[in-house]
Amino acid sequence: MSVNIFIMKVTFPHLGSMYIFCKAMAETAGIPYVLPRPTSNHTREIGEYSTNESVCLPLKIILGNFVDALDQGADTIVMVGSGPPCRLGLYDRIIKVVLTDMGYSFRWLTIPGIFNWQALLQNREEAKVLRRELTAGNYFRFPWAMVMGWKKMIWCEHLERTAAQIRAIAKNPAEVDRLLSQGLVAIDKAQGVRSLSVAGNEAIASIEGVQKTERTPLKVMMVGEVYTVMEPSINMDVERRLGRLGVVVHRSSYFSTHIRRGSRLDRRMLKDRQRLMDMARPYLNYDVGAECNFSVAETVLGHRQGYDGVVHVYPFSCMPETNAATVLCSVSKDLNIPVLPVVIDRQDMGLRIDTQLEAFVDIMTWRRQGRIL
Ligand code: SF4
Repeated sequence: MSVNIFIMKVTFPHLGSMYIFCKAMAETAGIPYVLPRPTSNHTREIGEYSTNESVCLPLKIILGNFVDALDQGADTIVMVGSGPPCRLGLYDRIIKVVLTDMGYSFRWLTIPGIFNWQALLQNREEAKVLRRELTAGNYFRFPWAMVMGWKKMIWCEHLERTAAQIRAIAKNPAEVDRLLSQGLVAIDKAQGVRSLSVAGNEAIASIEGVQKTERTPLKVMMVGEVYTVMEPSINMDVERRLGRLGVVVHRSSYFSTHIRRGSRLDRRMLKDRQRLMDMARPYLNYDVGAECNFSVAETVLGHRQGYDGVVHVYPFSCMPETNAATVLCSVSKDLNIPVLPVVIDRQDMGLRIDTQLEAFVDIMTWRRQGRIL
């Protein structure tokens, strides 16, 4: 019988700027890690080649991330879990089987999507082996690692929100994108709270300082499947494309939102969650799963808050969001708010998406001008 000897090197999916949070946690706690390369067409191809067509697009991408990291020497995969009916709850089982079939050896740790007793018990066995490998120093530094990770994540999100605001009115939106990338690198490199605050403030100031036009931007709410909303390489950079067309995009999903909602510890977030579920109730009177009810609720919210439209992004074959898309047809009609469904299926969708977005922006502009109702 062969015995696998592991030297712990953790890895995690490369999702939006979430990797900065994960890196900060691992670095501060002193746990060796391997960062998968940014998601690319190649990442997606690995996932597509190794699974069948009915599998969710995010699973294929995450699988591609893990293959990349395992090839670079990672041996321990950390992955968030979820409950039914969303297929995210099965990702861990499926990815484990596929990676094993591909000949990889690894350990697996699922971070529960919801922190309840059932999730903690389920996690116990996986965590038992890993706990033996963590040193006292790792444990000692862990609370501080959580603080650093969280602070970095909040700065990243603040920066991304600022970029979304300014990109729509900047004379040169590409300058905003350049400063955003630069700012994220500075936040990632910051070693302590003070240097993080300096890096964050400088990045915000540099983005706010770009030359601006006089135009009043359109406002769009971007809702949909969490992975697709958060990862630009998956959603075909919808946020940036709209920004360049003079539209401020308010994203429904940030990583911190999901941690807060999932932890069920933040009372304000719990109330907010309930408020959104109630808002969706005229159209959905039960929890469909994943972000479905939130996509509907945030569209209602977008209408109440005077948004010009809603962009609904989701991968082809996503069950909860396909339900949401059907419901959103009624919401759009009832509330007279344009909703653009952007269904992600292929890699070469750039031109199609540009055409869809340009037409959508024209519609919103004409509605503002009162040329159409
Ligand atoms: S939300 Fe949709 S795409 Fe995401 S894991 Fe669930 S079923 Fe798959």
